[in-house]
Amino acid sequence: AKISKLVALSLQDPTLGGLLPALKEYEPGQCISRTEEGPIRIPSRFTPSPYLVAKLRLYENRHRKCAPKAVKLSKNGTNSRKELGDCQFVIWIGNSGLGNRMITILSAFVYALLTDRVLLLDNTSTDIDGLFCEPFPGTSWLLPENYDYNWMNTVTWENTNRLGRLLQMSGFGNITIPSPVPNDYIFLNLMHDYDEHDRRFFCSRIQKQLKKVSLLYWRSNNYVVPGLHFDHSFHCKLDLMFPERATAFHHMARYLFRPSNSMWGMILRFRQPYLDGARRQVGLQVRILESNVTIPIVADQLLACVLEKEILPKGSSSAEDMLLSSKTRSTSVLVTSLDSAYYETLRNYYLEHPVEGTDYIGVYSPSEELYQQYGSDHDKKAWADMYLLSLSNTLVTSPRSTFGYVAQALAGVIPWFLTKIDSLETANETFQAHGPCNRGVSLEPCFHAPPALDCEGYGNGLNSSNIFSFIKPCEDVIGGIKIM
Ligand code: GDP
Repeated sequence: AKISKLVALSLQDPTLGGLLPALKEYEPGQCISRTEEGPIRIPSRFTPSPYLVAKLRLYENRHRKCAPKAVKLSKNGTNSRKELGDCQFVIWIGNSGLGNRMITILSAFVYALLTDRVLLLDNTSTDIDGLFCEPFPGTSWLLPENYDYNWMNTVTWENTNRLGRLLQMSGFGNITIPSPVPNDYIFLNLMHDYDEHDRRFFCSRIQKQLKKVSLLYWRSNNYVVPGLHFDHSFHCKLDLMFPERATAFHHMARYLFRPSNSMWGMILRFRQPYLDGARRQVGLQVRILESNVTIPIVADQLLACVLEKEILPKGSSSAEDMLLSSKTRSTSVLVTSLDSAYYETLRNYYLEHPVEGTDYIGVYSPSEELYQQYGSDHDKKAWADMYLLSLSNTLVTSPRSTFGYVAQALAGVIPWFLTKIDSLETANETFQAHGPCNRGVSLEPCFHAPPALDCEGYGNGLNSSNIFSFIKPCEDVIGGIKIM
């Protein structure tokens, strides 16, 4: 009864419990996926809190008011407070693959909500417009067209306004930003290899000082939301926004990321003929991030995982499905990976073996890119794959892959993680000890490179997985932390 109530709610309520602004706020036809997604997406098991809903509506108003002021950003991307009025910004700089870019847009947005800033996106490295609908009605989340992107290319490690560099220059303790800061901007370097000075971003005393700075540039490949809890005032607000703490990524992904109109066509052209009508969809995502692991061993691992954990039925020796009437339903299996070997292994298995039960098992794969490539067409295929995966009832994903994280967030499904293998020599030992895959412990993704918190500058930071009982080491990445 509870589930049918949820289904009814999602069909009636295109705002997803208030998470999204009312449809009348959008121009007609502006975002078709917004109106058409309902019937094909499994409704969320989680309701957004009234505090989060109120905060999002305030944010949308602020964005409408402040985004136009960004045209006044001067030639070198900086500005004086006078021209921006009381508007403050977080400017996201894109890098890495699409999954990384999505988890960092989401992290920067949560930070903007917590600090009353407005998020604007670099539109050069990613064709944001071609991939996503504008999430904030009546305005745009892209940097204005006159923005000086040549200058943005200088916002890197060497930039003199990098937070860590400013702190390091400040002398003993390294905990003070110059006030006022030159050009009223600071570059936040939150890349996985950031140093101990840049990592002080997560300290309350630094956050207090950042309040005075109008423009913050955000370059990252990390999901940093767990680390934002280390600031006491952020922690209190995050708890009000997400009373179920491990739903932050899920709610925010469903709020921000909706396929653009052209993407929607691409998604439907695969989903409707291949996946529609199945009783259940299982999504399998394989991403090999270790250079010394080969494809056949992972293909066997994937098959072992779905059979051992009873995610899909085992091939049987009985001939029962030779009768047309014995199977009346189907399960669709969507396999995404750069290489088609995983799809072929699964497909052949189910073509060659009868299975028990009432379902035929159909195995499908939307793309075969062979290796990681950059550019708009590849991003489109990647986004279509992530979105199609996210329509699954059950997910098996690869450890450490942000591509899998995005699918998990949109689906609202805790995935099974394939066990990480380090080398061919140790693979059998690893499988014997840990099995081919294991169920994840939380809907949240892993913050891969959390700080050792050294907020006083004494040089002996706290272990960030020991600070709060709800922040624990990740199951898929050694050294990472996640909200449980
Ligand atoms: P991560 O490296 O697994 O964390 O994920 P990212 O999305 O950040 O980077 C991987 C990139 O490689 C993607 O954005 C795609 O361009 C490409 N890629 C990896 N796996 C797949 C896949 O299964 N399908 C498609 N279409 N592209 C993929």
